[in-house]
Amino acid sequence: MATLEISNRIIIKIGSAILVDSEKGVLREDWLDSLCKEVSELKVSGKEVTIVSSGAIALGRSRLGLQNRKLTLSEKQACAAAGQSLLTLAYEKALNKYGITTAQALLTLNDTEDRRRWLNARSTLDTLLLLGAVPVINENDTVATDEIRYGDNDRLAARTAQMIGSDTLILLTDIDGLYTSDPRFNTDAQHVPQVEVLTDEIMEMGTGINTQTNLGSGGMATKLIAARIATQAGCRVCIMDGRKNKPLQRLNLGERATWFTAKSNPKSARIQWISGTLKPSGSITIDEGAVKALKMNKSLLPAGAISLSGNFYKGDAVMIIDENNLEIARGLVSYDKIEAEKIIGFKSEDISNILGYENGPVLIHRDNLVVM
Ligand code: GLU
Repeated sequence: MATLEISNRIIIKIGSAILVDSEKGVLREDWLDSLCKEVSELKVSGKEVTIVSSGAIALGRSRLGLQNRKLTLSEKQACAAAGQSLLTLAYEKALNKYGITTAQALLTLNDTEDRRRWLNARSTLDTLLLLGAVPVINENDTVATDEIRYGDNDRLAARTAQMIGSDTLILLTDIDGLYTSDPRFNTDAQHVPQVEVLTDEIMEMGTGINTQTNLGSGGMATKLIAARIATQAGCRVCIMDGRKNKPLQRLNLGERATWFTAKSNPKSARIQWISGTLKPSGSITIDEGAVKALKMNKSLLPAGAISLSGNFYKGDAVMIIDENNLEIARGLVSYDKIEAEKIIGFKSEDISNILGYENGPVLIHRDNLVVM
């Protein structure tokens, strides 16, 4: 039986249908309270928790008197703006009751797809987790238009899991997992408790199965896409019916759900991504002292860099070579080449004097570095 016992960095994705009462368009406060209590228990046992929550549009709808009809994109965005403040307030209140500090992060597709912004978002979320907060994430629907939006929080949650190296993603929805076909229309539909490999055949099972809500945007298909993204990044995924109170306790007690096995773990998936998938945009030659430091799992400081080549921007992958021209590492750089040129050879404390600002003391952070 899969439980949360072995998880360290957990993301819980909460769909609109379970957070908001679809008839009244109001928050299900008792449910939220039960979940936040469970979050506090996870934190006490040393786990880091991030929440990805939908519900802004569903809450904003009733606030703006726009229930029971299809919304235009700008109406959706207006609802998101009106509902997001209620959503934030709700988490603030519910988590605060258990002594948890919450922090709101509204992301757009660009924040997870553009490596420069990805690095920023990643380090903000990392810092929040380090400081013991529970980030509550939603898509920034108010500014995200069709071309630049996820539209569903399942994929946003999966990309966030990949970005921060989560090991477990729980998708709380209104169905108890994946079925071979839509159980509402097909009495032969079989529940699938475990998926080891997300084959095309499994992906097919999601088409046509929508979860019962008219509030959220994602159906089973987007959940399977999310599962594919997350499992490839080394994060296992669970789809479960989260409507009843205390969903995580029920999950730990073996309630029916579908679990998707992760391919490898977040660390090796990341190593593979940095060293094998990304094409390097340039290189940094470093001195002997820096080579030693890197081998001891330290970050690359500007003082250890001798010269640069190629053309790179913050967040790009670069090769790191020693004075004999041997590639010894690869990493995601924290400064644009034009900035790096000015600070190499200097101490980290000089960066802000030289540039007039700083983006941290390192040229490449050790978490973004893979020594070959
Ligand atoms: N971001 C949307 C909201 O908060 C929900 C998207 C989804 O349903 O997944 O209302």
